[in-house]
Amino acid sequence: MTMPPPANSNKPCPICGKPPADPYRPFCSSRCADLDLHRWLGGVYRVETSEVGDEKDDSGV
Ligand SMILES: [Zn+2]
Repeated sequence: MTMPPPANSNKPCPICGKPPADPYRPFCSSRCADLDLHRWLGGVYRVETSEVGDEKDDSGV
């Protein structure tokens, strides 16, 4: 029996497509990991978040 490759071990860096480096998996470098993190945060949170109020549209019908 041959050892099958681990499922997630060959995924390229999602930022630049290079092979991932161990400490930064699944990224190739801390830079790419950081870029992705900022992208991720930018989509969800604001860097300077001024909490105006949690307007919950609670349309409980
Ligand atoms: Zn990269």
